[in-house]
Amino acid sequence: MDFTIENALIATQDNYTTASVQVVNGRIAAISSQLDTAGVSVKADNKLLLPGFVNAHTHSSEMWQRGIMSMFPLELWLAELYDFAPLDLEKVYLSALGTAVETLLSGGTTVVDHLVLIPGKELETIATAVRAYQEIGIRAFVAPLIQDESLAAGIPCGDTKQTHEPYFRSTQATLNIIEAAIKQFHRPGEGISIVVAPTGIQLCTDALFRGCVELSDKYNLCRHSHLLETKAQEKLAQEKYACTAVEHLNRIGYLDYRTSLAHCVHLTDSDIEILAKTKSTVVHNPLSNLRLGSGIAPVLKYRQAGVNVSFGCDGASSNDSQDLLEAIKIGSILHNLTDKDYQYWISPRQSVQMAALGGAIGLNMENENGSLEVGKKADLVLYDLTSLSLLPRTDPIGLLVLGRPVNVVDSVWVNGKQVVAEGEVTTIDVKNLRQELFKHSEWQTKRKSKTVAELETHYRLVMGL
Ligand SMILES: [Zn+2]
Repeated sequence: MDFTIENALIATQDNYTTASVQVVNGRIAAISSQLDTAGVSVKADNKLLLPGFVNAHTHSSEMWQRGIMSMFPLELWLAELYDFAPLDLEKVYLSALGTAVETLLSGGTTVVDHLVLIPGKELETIATAVRAYQEIGIRAFVAPLIQDESLAAGIPCGDTKQTHEPYFRSTQATLNIIEAAIKQFHRPGEGISIVVAPTGIQLCTDALFRGCVELSDKYNLCRHSHLLETKAQEKLAQEKYACTAVEHLNRIGYLDYRTSLAHCVHLTDSDIEILAKTKSTVVHNPLSNLRLGSGIAPVLKYRQAGVNVSFGCDGASSNDSQDLLEAIKIGSILHNLTDKDYQYWISPRQSVQMAALGGAIGLNMENENGSLEVGKKADLVLYDLTSLSLLPRTDPIGLLVLGRPVNVVDSVWVNGKQVVAEGEVTTIDVKNLRQELFKHSEWQTKRKSKTVAELETHYRLVMGL
């Protein structure tokens, strides 16, 4: 349906102007202060119009464990997470919807779901998440999380001799599942893209990475992985490859302009040069990095080196939310600690650009998305500047990024289709979703993770604790 957003505040080079935006066939057809209304009129007085942001890294089914995970570093945290991972498709469906709702209501129009697969029901898991995202109407990059080594292999050996059980499924069988998923679900024109997503060097062999590169080349897919989230992974890379993880991934051809890498906390200066040269994208997940004590990603260095950076919430078990505006705020001002030269600090306008265009670049869709330009897809968000949390009136983008915006998203369109109106999601019944999330869960406190008990002594030993 064609429409015209009338009298919205939009950002100019270094100021704001009031303009109307015409959307025809899902694309921005005109932006001007003097426009006739085409199609339905949407009144946008005192509302700020921005391109939709990208939640560039999350794991939707972690929603079921938010608020309860122990205070652990990643390696032990993962062990606990997997011991209690939801194994039914109904839960996968509900948490995908929940992740999408929270992303939309915090300014996101695209989500990258690094989706944890239920063993033995891999394609069904993917189908379920795809169905949820299609129903709610968010643009989704579904990135089935794959590995071909067992969890213990992700912890460095140190001086000990460690052997690991083989993973329960062969590398080729895993790649076959991904190729089947691509054939069934990869429909970028309809807003659903499949991404090849080996979880990271800590749990994947070169054969798996190479297989993913082949699929990515064959079907022109984005590539997505975790990278050097923790000190332990930095150590492990040296044990595995006798070089850094980035040098190794570059050597095997994994890094290119379609590759986005979550975290990137522990990189060397020459690693950063490799990311710049290969045009890889860093997805910054500040809340997760704080929650798991992983460290502060050198985001200011990335920006100075010309590396594209976008923002992610990471899964809700390490966050413990999916509020993209919160991730953008913390992910911006956190770095004022890392460089005393304030000229490099990230301004609110730069944050918005990283979240929208940076996100689009990381998903190889910057020609179609990520900014308010004629011809681009209408993935748009209107913010209500009369909300108490955005008053009194100063700089709207400054208020949005540096403030604590509460219920400020008024309307959202994805591909020109409205999915949020007057602050409410219109495509699904959110009241019913709340009831279902309540029904499928219970108040709980302490849990005992068997795998943590098995791994903890070794982890403490090799990490010198
Ligand atoms: Zn993650």
